[in-house]
Amino acid sequence: LMSDLASVAIQNALLYRRTQEEAITDGLTEVFVHRHFQERLSDELRRAREQGIPLTLLMADIDNFKGFNDTYGHLTGDAVLKRIARALRDGVRGTDLVARYGGEEFAVLLVETPSEAGLAVAERLRASVEALVLADLGIPGTVTISVGEAGFPGQATDERGLIEKADEALYAAKREGKNRVVASGPGGEAGTAFQV
Ligand code: GH3
Ligand code: MG
Ligand code: MG
Repeated sequence: LMSDLASVAIQNALLYRRTQEEAITDGLTEVFVHRHFQERLSDELRRAREQGIPLTLLMADIDNFKGFNDTYGHLTGDAVLKRIARALRDGVRGTDLVARYGGEEFAVLLVETPSEAGLAVAERLRASVEALVLADLGIPGTVTISVGEAGFPGQATDERGLIEKADEALYAAKREGKNRVVASGPGGEAGTAFQV
């Protein structure tokens, strides 16, 4: 009887953990969901403030993805989304966080990372997406992302500000021709194209 009870308890614990993991993981891309990103952003910002350490937020959006779906179909689009999510996860440290912010937009939180280092990571991520081979999905060409960057404490000091600044930089990257990384300026103004 005791061992039966123990085994039920273990099974419940495992089930509980799986349910918890499923609740914070996006079903399609297997990166974190938006809500979990918001929670972690708050936690990491608090930690950064208390310990006086920087952090960098990247916002990435797939370029011309609507046309992609129109040409290859949504199922292939979904597969591309998964590949890109994987490339982003593979390109950061285990302590960093990749989340699906919206449909084909990703947020990448680089903990303990100043802007200069964060921009180098962003550029590496951009290049790794561009380098993805998608021939097995029937896609002969490349897929690219645009990335906006904002850093704490340089460009913003709270959650909202960081997201806004990274977003503005992302839109600047789109305006300037896509497939590029744009940093928020010292005062938070977007438009400083990152040079390798
Ligand atoms: P831009 O370069 O300006 O970003 O152009 P875009 O076409 O990518 O425009 P936008 O970022 O607004 O793209 C949104 C499109 O992303 C609309 C929708 O077709 C596609 N999308 C969003 N979520 C998903 C998804 O889960 N699966 C698939 N296949 N497509 C998605
Ligand atoms: Mg978008
Ligand atoms: Mg897009």
